[in-house]
Formats: sequence, structure tokens, C-alpha cells
Amino acid sequence: MLPDRCSIKEKGRQCVNPPEFVISIASEKDEYMVGVTCNKHRQTIHQKLGELQKEGSVPQGQIKFEILKPIGTDCIKSDPDELIQLKSVRDML
Ligand SMILES: [Zn+2]
Repeated sequence: MLPDRCSIKEKGRQCVNPPEFVISIASEKDEYMVGVTCNKHRQTIHQKLGELQKEGSVPQGQIKFEILKPIGTDCIKSDPDELIQLKSVRDML
């Protein structure tokens, strides 16, 4: 399951907006899902991921935003590995 909240924390407080975009990093070989964001925090998370890429904390590649489909479709697949990645990136944000 995807998180039901935006992945951003601001001043220590979790954003309460529902997620509108799935954020992923497309590297040469793979695509990594790193989190979800509301429309408001799209730029924030893009910038943050850019910084994390410079530090080497997240995979290099193009940062992509995909509109989150309403729950009930099975367009978004997730496996346990992705969820672990998601959690570790969320801890860094
Ligand atoms: Zn947000």
C-alpha cells in the first residue's frame, strides 16, 4: 500500500495533505519509487531529492512525478523492496 499522506515534513510536522503524485527516480537501469507528495510540496521534494542525489544518498537519475491514480486501480505496483526504500528515504526528508 502507498502512504496516504504526503511524504514531506515541515518544521517537524508531517504534511497532512493526501498524496497527489508518486515520486520516482529513473536511473539508467531501474526506476525507484521514493515517496509521494501533494501538489504543494512537489517543488520542495524535487529540490530535496536533488540535494540528496548530490550527496549520493539516493540513486542518480531523473526525478519524475506521476499523477497518483485513485485508490482501487492496480496501476501502481509495489513490492517489499520498494517499501523499504520508501521508508529509508522518508526518514531522510
Ligand atoms: Zn505536502
